[in-house]
Parts: sequence; C-alpha cells; structure tokens
Amino acid sequence: MSIAPSPADLSQCVHCGLCLQNCPTYLQTGYEAESPRGRIHLMQALGDGRVEASEAYRQHLELCLVCRNCEGVCPSGVHFGRIMEAGRAQLYERASLSPRERLFRRLAFHELLPHRARLRAMFGALMIYQRTGLQRLVRASGLLPAPLAEAESLLPDLPAPFEPRWEVMTAEPPLRYRVGLFTGCVMPLVYGPVHAATLRVLRHNGCEVHIPRSQVCCGALNVHGGERQTAAALARQNLRAFLGRGLDAIVVNSAGCGATMKEYADLLGADDPDVQEFTGLVRDVTEFLADIELVPPSLAVRTRITLQESCHLVHAQRIKAAPRDLLARLPGVELLDMAHPDLCCGSAGLYMLTEREMSMRILDDKMSEIAATGAQTIVTANPGCMMQLQRGVARAGLKLDVRHVIELIDDAYGAHAGGRQALV
Ligand code: SF4
Ligand code: SF4
Repeated sequence: MSIAPSPADLSQCVHCGLCLQNCPTYLQTGYEAESPRGRIHLMQALGDGRVEASEAYRQHLELCLVCRNCEGVCPSGVHFGRIMEAGRAQLYERASLSPRERLFRRLAFHELLPHRARLRAMFGALMIYQRTGLQRLVRASGLLPAPLAEAESLLPDLPAPFEPRWEVMTAEPPLRYRVGLFTGCVMPLVYGPVHAATLRVLRHNGCEVHIPRSQVCCGALNVHGGERQTAAALARQNLRAFLGRGLDAIVVNSAGCGATMKEYADLLGADDPDVQEFTGLVRDVTEFLADIELVPPSLAVRTRITLQESCHLVHAQRIKAAPRDLLARLPGVELLDMAHPDLCCGSAGLYMLTEREMSMRILDDKMSEIAATGAQTIVTANPGCMMQLQRGVARAGLKLDVRHVIELIDDAYGAHAGGRQALV
C-alpha cells in the first residue's frame, strides 16, 4: 500500500504563516522551505507531480524536527506531525538511498529497536566498554571515525539496567489504582533510574504496577523515520501486552513514546475497539500524578530548576500545566523559567545524530537561555531531551544536573534519604 499525506490534511493549511516564528528550523535559517508552511507546500507539490523526491526535497523534509511546535499555534488545526510522518514514508518509498543509508535504516529500524534482547546485549557490551577503561583508550586514540565518535560521546555513563523482579509490583497500601508502566526500548538500559523512580512514586501513591515483559518499543522512531509497517507491528504487540489486565491507566514517562502511543489509531485504524481502549488508557506520568490526589511530598529538595518542556509533551500531547503543577508542590524547589521553555532542544530522536549541525545550532541557543536563568538543575520529561541537554551542558562547560520531573518527586518522597530504595 502506497503511503502519502492525505490531501484533506494538507488542504487544512491556509498558508497564513502564523507558525513560522515558532519553527526552530525556520528561526535558524529563515528559509521558507525550512518552515511548516513551506514543507506542506512541498509535499502538496510532490503529490501533484510538480516536484520530484530530489536530494533538496529530501533535505527539507529531513531537517524538520517533528517537534510539532507549529501544531500548537496553527489556527487551522493542521495535524503537522501526522502529515510529516506520512510525508517521510512517501519520501523513503520514492527516494534512492545510498547503501550506507539503507544499512543504517535496516539496523536501526528493523534489527535493533524492535528487539529488546538485542538491545540489552548491545548495551551490556557498551557498559563493559565504559567500565573497563576501554572507552578512555579508544577516545584517546582517536581511532573512531567522526560519526561513530559523535554517537559514542552522546552515551551517558550507563547505570545498571532497569529489571524489576516481578511483572506485577504491589502498591503501598491502601490500593488505589492498577496501572501499567511502559518502559520502552532503550530507556531501561540508559535511564533505568528514571524508571525506578517512577515505580517508587507510583507505588507510594497506592498503585499496583504492571510491567509486562512482552511489551516492546512504542514505534516512535520508526514512525518518525517513515517506517510505519514495523511501527504498526510494534503497536499491536503493545496492545497484546497491556490489555486484559484491568488497568486504570498505562503510565508513560517518556513524552515521545506517550505521544506515539496516544496516536496508535493513526497506525492501526480508529475503529478497532482494542486501539480505542488502549489509547484511552495512555497517560504521561505527570498527567496521571497531577490528576490523582497526590500523597504530599514533604522533604525539601532545595534546588533552583529550569524546565525544558519536552515537545512531545507540550505540543503533541498538549500537556503544559501538569509538570509545573507537580514541581510547584515540591518543597525547596524554585522554578526559574528560560525565555522559550517550549522550543525544541534539537534532540528529536535520531535527529541529534543524523542532522548534527542543525541539532547543535538549536542546542547552543537553548543552552544560552538556560545559562541565563541561573538554575542549578534542568528538568524535563523525555529521555531524548535528557541526553541532548547533557550533551549541551558538556559543550557549554556548565555545571548543571539534568533530571526527569519524576526524579525530583521521588527525591521529595525521600528516595535518597534512606529506606525507600529497597522498594524496587
Ligand atoms: S500550518 Fe497552520 S499556521 Fe502554518 S501556515 Fe498553515 S495554516 Fe498557517
Ligand atoms: S515540526 Fe517543528 S521543525 Fe518541523 S515544521 Fe513544525 S515547528 Fe518546524
């Protein structure tokens, strides 16, 4: 089946240009073809046969972060994310890719991301590489070719992976909710402590937490890369893993994963009752906690923070108040806003690797805004943003922590004051 942006979606754009000043790539280049309106125009032209899927066409589409900032400000309600995902699928169907690009896509989208065991083995090897001192030797030797060295430098020090002992973890009494915890593909291996903090906070709030071992990657990176068929297979597997457990919610602590999971209807069809049930249950962890009667956090965290509002939380899921509401309840936390907390940090999944130059330009501007706040800690709600901001801190030579919202809540419940670590 051939995939293309739907003419109905494309025709919703009235070309008013109100989105332009909110598009990070347009702000950097000033080119119409690097704006939401310009990209929509290009996709319409490809559909009408007025342009071809040339190298230039491809660059304009690939330079989009799919941050969806344009969606939030569009008066016509253009579904830009959906348009761009279909536009990419159409592009890769038509464009001729080099053998290297084909290999990269095959490895990332088919051989690694969908397979948790392979990822675990790969990150296990990387942990040995980091902990034996091999990493220092390799870095000092300068042997790695530039793109590989860049990817390697992005990797934070790997903690022990998140491997909960049981599939169902009991609540701290009284039992109030039964929830699923979505763990994702790479996150348990790179940011396991964020999952551990999420699990502790949920249990402390009376949640029995189901962590199905049969769950898989949400498919977000595949969707953004135009690989919709693999993404649909992953989505189906997640439906099987989570449905039928009598859950009140499926809690997600990665904004990018949550946005994709809430939109599984675009991949699997809106009429399927299983899809309706599943998407109706998905909640970002901040959304879930802000909606329940939260056990009041009582320990002072004592830090000045600034909040990077992850694009897939604020623009795709339209959740702005929840993280702020939760952070305001933490004793000792002072929030110092940067000038544009809702503007992308340049992470955007694999973009930080594949579009390095633009990613760095956007990141450097972001770090200047952050430095101006005087904050000690950058707080966000998405693992990709955490990785990119850690890279930004190192590039700018700043002394700042980068943490997930849920980690601060966990601190305020005393996770590091002794006694609660044993819960996981
Ligand atoms: S995407 Fe929306 S805001 Fe941007 S030009 Fe089209 S209608 Fe206007
Ligand atoms: S998704 Fe982000 S980068 Fe892409 S056109 Fe919209 S605002 Fe620009």
